[in-house]
Amino acid sequence: MNALELHSISKFYGSQRALENVSLSVPTGSRTVIVGPSGSGKTTLLRMIAGFEFPDTGSLSLNGQTLVDETHEVPAHQRLIGYVPQDGALFPHMTVAANIGFGLSTKGEAKQQRIAELMDSVALNANMANRWPHELSGGQQQRVALARALAQQPRLMLLDEPFSALDTGLRGAMRKMVARLLSDAGVTTILVTHDQSEALSFADQLAVMRDGRLVQSGHPLDLYRYPDDEQTALFLGDAVVMPARIEAGWAHCDLGRIPVNNHRNNNSAQIMLRPEQLQLISIQPSPAEGPGCRAVVTDRDFSGNTCTLTVELQSSTDGEQPGRSLMVRSSGMYAPPAGSAVQVSTIGHAHVLGES
Ligand code: ADP
Ligand code: MG
Repeated sequence: MNALELHSISKFYGSQRALENVSLSVPTGSRTVIVGPSGSGKTTLLRMIAGFEFPDTGSLSLNGQTLVDETHEVPAHQRLIGYVPQDGALFPHMTVAANIGFGLSTKGEAKQQRIAELMDSVALNANMANRWPHELSGGQQQRVALARALAQQPRLMLLDEPFSALDTGLRGAMRKMVARLLSDAGVTTILVTHDQSEALSFADQLAVMRDGRLVQSGHPLDLYRYPDDEQTALFLGDAVVMPARIEAGWAHCDLGRIPVNNHRNNNSAQIMLRPEQLQLISIQPSPAEGPGCRAVVTDRDFSGNTCTLTVELQSSTDGEQPGRSLMVRSSGMYAPPAGSAVQVSTIGHAHVLGES
């Protein structure tokens, strides 16, 4: 069952289009991530779901209840939706405990008990209860904001770039903690981010936004492997894109013959591979025979666990034109050095762009 249904939502600010015809279904209990570059309309969409903005046209419903349509608008405070804005937005004049307990209807001992449980659930030490927001780190402030939103027992949780203020090490740990916490609580969640690796790791449904439009949605692995177009491919990661002729399930291209995920014949298609689908074998000391085609490593960028290499394919026109340059991702420690002659082969299928 779907918890949230967005249907053809559009919103303009004057002549500035913020959202155009956005439709999305969010399954109950899922973690849906909306990813897109800055300015693509992500915050506007979340604020609309929360009830702080209203669409020009379109409708939205939660658990079968219409929240907005042409005749009807349920105000934010009646929606039972938790919203953690980008900056956390804690009340600066209230302690951690008072922030978390702000909307709780219980009083006295029961209220203190509930605040303690909420602090524990977001891994905040009990001795922080009397601190002020400015005495907390960015990550701690985010956790207080999350606990405050969870206190309302929301039907849906909205998180706007919750990890963007944290440094890389803490980010991954916070992301895992929050994902587990929300799954355990069974809360349907929508998280917004401009960070593609965060999106791919957090989501069980991913929706990509660009210029106010939702351009593609689905399972993160499917979007990574089968993006509709080159822009989406490149937004979700590095990609090797090249022209090919498609015939009977094979792409004929500069890398030779590669199986494709699509059987339509096409004389001038673009195919995409991820750089980790290319494999290099050093040719030393004499030319090797085998599958794939020959190339020279022209650049090697070592970054620890992985290494990004640039290889130049052997020219098909006998040296008159340089061969195509490709990006290859390989294990950091065993990558061939710049200048090496290599044989390039591919793993899996190439994806034909614009044909899904
Ligand atoms: P994102 O969160 O993806 O960075 P936003 O939803 O904040 O994007 O903004 C989408 C577009 O709408 C941007 O072009 C932004 O400048 C514009 N916008 C957002 N809020 C307002 C507003 N209150 N008034 C005018 N323009 C706005
Ligand atoms: Mg935003």
